[in-house]
Amino acid sequence: MSDHEILSEQPTGEDVEFDEQLRPARLDDFPGQNPIKEKLRIAIAAAQKRAEPLDHMLLSGPPGLGKTTLARIMAHEMGVNFKATSGPVIERQADLTAILTNLEEFDCLFIDEIHRLNHAVEETLYSAMEDFEVDIMLGKGPTARSMRIGLKPFTLIGATTRSGLLTPPLRARFGDTCRFEFYSSQELQAIVERCARILDVTIESDGALEIASRARRTARIAIRLLRRVRDYVDVKGDGVVTQPMADAALRLLQIDDLGLDAMDRSIVRTIVQKFSGGPVGLSSLAVACGEEAQTLEEVHEPFLIQIGFLKRTPQGRQATPRAYKHFGLDLPNQDESTHF
Ligand code: ADP
Repeated sequence: MSDHEILSEQPTGEDVEFDEQLRPARLDDFPGQNPIKEKLRIAIAAAQKRAEPLDHMLLSGPPGLGKTTLARIMAHEMGVNFKATSGPVIERQADLTAILTNLEEFDCLFIDEIHRLNHAVEETLYSAMEDFEVDIMLGKGPTARSMRIGLKPFTLIGATTRSGLLTPPLRARFGDTCRFEFYSSQELQAIVERCARILDVTIESDGALEIASRARRTARIAIRLLRRVRDYVDVKGDGVVTQPMADAALRLLQIDDLGLDAMDRSIVRTIVQKFSGGPVGLSSLAVACGEEAQTLEEVHEPFLIQIGFLKRTPQGRQATPRAYKHFGLDLPNQDESTHF
């Protein structure tokens, strides 16, 4: 696995292999996201009491924070089937209709990256969500006619990393939105310890905390780091994840105390040293760092912004005084620069 794959919030092949094993099945086994869990507990209990499906729910937030996992948990807690698909995969209205007509009563249909549905498919979803009905086309050409058919009541769970891209009509059809937050180190520690138990890894609590505090506040990355540290202790140690062992393994992966990798460091240094602290446009920065603009924007920037190292301004990206301090760089003369 490359450095980039370790820190990418997107699932890799290896993640998918482990996901089935590691995904919690119940709300009680899902650390963190407390406000969302509280809300869902009530929604699930109320739906069960009234013998109704759950309201359609939109889950939004950066990748790797547990949206898919929580959607599965909702279905499990409701005792219904979970069907998963994603926005770009559903190309035609007929594809969506086939999925919808195969749902059983109260099933949860999960559509990941729902902001990437095409317009025609999205329109089909409106009547399905609102009235549990869809129009299907019979025949072709001038003799074609449409027929409305009923669906079994179901719950749509949409997930998006870009909730701002959702169209207002689609957004309005969700009963509620759950916004996922980045995890605290303590929450990630609980996630790492739980996964270590499942993977049969012996881990000391400060070893788990070390991994947790260097995981960019993201569950997927914490789990991935645990797997890398496990490899390291199996080869270099006695199989026990202690704090010094975790630290040594993460150093070898060039992940620093804050969880920054070589590219994160290169981005900040480039802004400071080549662009006088910024502002600098995304494409110039990408060329200077030798990385793709999209990767900078989706993988590296959100966390650098979250920890207050980078600011996005209309003129471009800017390094903050906090970033200068972390890297031991001299702040520009305040008289010469009005950046701060
Ligand atoms: P998303 O859909 O937001 O990209 P996933 O649900 O695929 O994120 O989660 C990524 C990985 O992190 C999965 O292996 C999942 O089991 C794990 N995970 C995410 N959140 C939690 C949590 N709160 N507790 C335990 N594991 C979690």
